[in-house]
Parts: sequence; C-alpha cells; structure tokens
Amino acid sequence: MAQILIVEDEARIASFVAKGLRAEGHQPTIASDGPSGLDEALSNRFDLMVLDIGLPGMDGFEVLDQLRSQGSRMPVIVLTARDSVTDTVAALDSGADDYMAKPFRFAELMARVRVRLRQASESGSSAYEDVLTIAGVRLDRRTRLAQVRGTDVDLSAREYTLLEIFMLNPGQVLTREQLLDHVWGYDFDPGSNVVDVYVGYLRKKLGSAAIATVRGVGYRFAT
Ligand code: CA
Repeated sequence: MAQILIVEDEARIASFVAKGLRAEGHQPTIASDGPSGLDEALSNRFDLMVLDIGLPGMDGFEVLDQLRSQGSRMPVIVLTARDSVTDTVAALDSGADDYMAKPFRFAELMARVRVRLRQASESGSSAYEDVLTIAGVRLDRRTRLAQVRGTDVDLSAREYTLLEIFMLNPGQVLTREQLLDHVWGYDFDPGSNVVDVYVGYLRKKLGSAAIATVRGVGYRFAT
C-alpha cells in the first residue's frame, strides 16, 4: 500500500481516481486546491502525488515548483489538458516525473503509478516496499503472490488487501472499522461480520497463530 496524494479540484475525477487507488490497495488523500495540496505534500509522508494543472489558488506548475524548491523528490504524475503540448513540456520541465492527458483511462494511470512507485522504491527515495516479509510470510506486491515458509498460498483480491494492511502494520492492533474501511470501502455496512470471516480465511491459509484476536477491539498480525 502506498500513500498517494491526489490534488484535483474536480470532485468527480478526484473521487474516481481515489476509488480506483483504494481498490488497488493504496491509501489516497484528496486535496482540492493548490495551497492545500502543497501543504499536504510538504507536511505528510506521501509515496506519490497525482497533480492536476488547472487548480484554484495556485496552479499545478507552482505547486510543483515550490515542492521541488523545498527539496521534495516525491514522484509526481501531472494531469494535463488533452493535447496541450505546452503544458506537458512545462510540467516535465518543472520537475514532474510523468504526465497523463485528460481524459485518461484509469488502467493507464495505474500503470504509470506502478512504474513510478517501483522506480522510487528501487532508488530508495520512497518508503514503498515491493516485497514484505514478516513472521515467515512473504508478500510480493508486484505479482500479488503470497508464500508461507516458502510455500505458495492462493489469495483472493480481498484476502490480499487484508493481508497487505496487516503486514504494513505488524504488531499493531487494527480495529474492525479500520479493516472494513480499507478493504471493503466506506459504504460497507459497519454491522457486517465480513472482517471476521476474512480473518478466518487468512488464518486457514497462514496458520491460526498468524493473526491474534484482540477482544473487543480488532486484530493484530505477528506479535
Ligand atoms: Ca482542474
């Protein structure tokens, strides 16, 4: 899971991108104007930023310029108006790593997000790790394959996302609400026992000791 900042003033586009990123297991944050986007980018640890150019308050070029002048090397993918060669060149000149012309297909944006996260991970400039290995469980986030003590384990998409959030927070108690929000989305019925059911599935695959129940609170991976 990567922390991704979306700076986009069109609510429809921002929520479409956020929803898709969440489905891929990432944690998106939305800022809807230039100043708040810059503020978020400088005060929190993000692995990547998706930045619109036309923004109220301060345009994307200025956000990028200030970000780079404050020393941030965060990968930035800029969203430009369709066929605006000037915007594209200017964006790359001012320190963007990549760009997408609007309108874009989500799959295309995700492919670029993956490339940038991988490069940042390889160059050591991001906290994003491709492979998580904790307590005998290995999770490869490029291939989405899990192994338990060297043996492959098949995971469904939900099981993968659940295991990933556990492995990113080893030893920490995650509440049912946190897990429900992260894996199933905010509009899922909070009274549902789907989290408990899926923790049960993971225990069958990983061994029952992998995830501890913290009574009345939630669950904890690898103590
Ligand atoms: Ca805009």
